[in-house]
Amino acid sequence: MQEWTERYTHAVMDTFGPPQRVLVRGEGAYVWDADGRRYLDLLAGIAVNALGHAHPTLTAAVSAQLGTLGHVSNFFGTPTQIALAERLLALCGAPDGSRVFFTNSGTEANEAAFKMARRTGRPRVLALEGGFHGRTMGALALTSKAAYREPFEPLPGGVEHVRFDDVAALEEAFSAEAVAARGEVAALVVEPVQGEAGVRSLSPGYLVAARELTAQHGALLVLDEVQTGVGRTGSWLAVQQPDLGGGILPDVVTLAKGLGGGFPVGAVIAYGERAATLLGRGQHGTTFGGNPVAAAAALATLGVIERDGLLENVRTVGQSLREGITAAGNPLVAGVRGRGLLLAVLLTRPVAAEVARAALDAGLIVNAVAPDAIRLAPPLVLTPEQARDVVAFFADLSLPEPEPTETRT
Ligand SMILES: *Cc1c(COP(=O)(O)O)cnc(C)c1O
Repeated sequence: MQEWTERYTHAVMDTFGPPQRVLVRGEGAYVWDADGRRYLDLLAGIAVNALGHAHPTLTAAVSAQLGTLGHVSNFFGTPTQIALAERLLALCGAPDGSRVFFTNSGTEANEAAFKMARRTGRPRVLALEGGFHGRTMGALALTSKAAYREPFEPLPGGVEHVRFDDVAALEEAFSAEAVAARGEVAALVVEPVQGEAGVRSLSPGYLVAARELTAQHGALLVLDEVQTGVGRTGSWLAVQQPDLGGGILPDVVTLAKGLGGGFPVGAVIAYGERAATLLGRGQHGTTFGGNPVAAAAALATLGVIERDGLLENVRTVGQSLREGITAAGNPLVAGVRGRGLLLAVLLTRPVAAEVARAALDAGLIVNAVAPDAIRLAPPLVLTPEQARDVVAFFADLSLPEPEPTETRT
């Protein structure tokens, strides 16, 4: 592995820092590194590998499609792509007139949603503080983190970041004064649960208020479910959970991460005729988006989630992780938040990086999503026994005490 790491650092651009391990194969919720060590994968390629690794149904679907028809361009349709679009519209409960646009990634899905917002002819796009929407220029404009944005300014204009989970701040952004000063709002873009910000869920009622305000002002409500979608929180979409979405329908949902079970594929679901026709012929495009291999991967992933009752598994295993880790009462653990299998273990000290390293040494892949939070986003196939191993890790976890800081007299 040392040799691979050395070669990586000479050949791969240093945007991610050195790799934590070099991995060579996977099966189910486990992966193996180049030295033959096994890890329980509780990150799943950042909430991507919904079915775990090397799932036979997914492997067979991708190989069969690639061996039949691998790519055709969007001058042509394929049965696989059409079937996936129909399947997504059904899972999303999208009304008549709804349509799908396919992409290869989450940022591209949000890029398309941004272009839809521009097509309303209105100047302002609202997004939330803490929000993460991707790294291409439009999606980056929606992303709030200064360290990601500032090196790339000027970004596409008109984006305003409003306070997270604050209905009054949203009302203010839609107020007559704000509209008079800065113009009408084209769209509000939100994640039902902010993943990269440390698994922060919106309060019940926020999305309902957001739906009311956007509808009242003719603005689009865009839900970025790139991380929360495709079963991650225990329902197909996070907004479908009554205590989070309150039964609302958005105008646009973006998906990616889990959709292809590890194969790159994203989608924009436009709800109803108005949203579905904002991008007209020639106004957007993609070479790879909607290609039949990606569509086959997504259809297989959705099929297995349904066939194997994985939404139920997400809810029950997620709950036992949450309860188990909380009940273990480790003094380093302040609590667990999140939904389904998108969880953050909150720490009492800013030692997430050390905890992630200790986990890796113990054979668990977790993610230090914030200085004081560990994100768990395991495959949706995680078993109760595997969840017990995770609970045991957090029960036994101990780090050296911090150096006492010098006190001046
Ligand atoms: C990961 C993520 C993105 C970006 O997706 P990529 O496929 O990395 O471009 C966008 N939005 C959210 C909420 C994400 O978690």
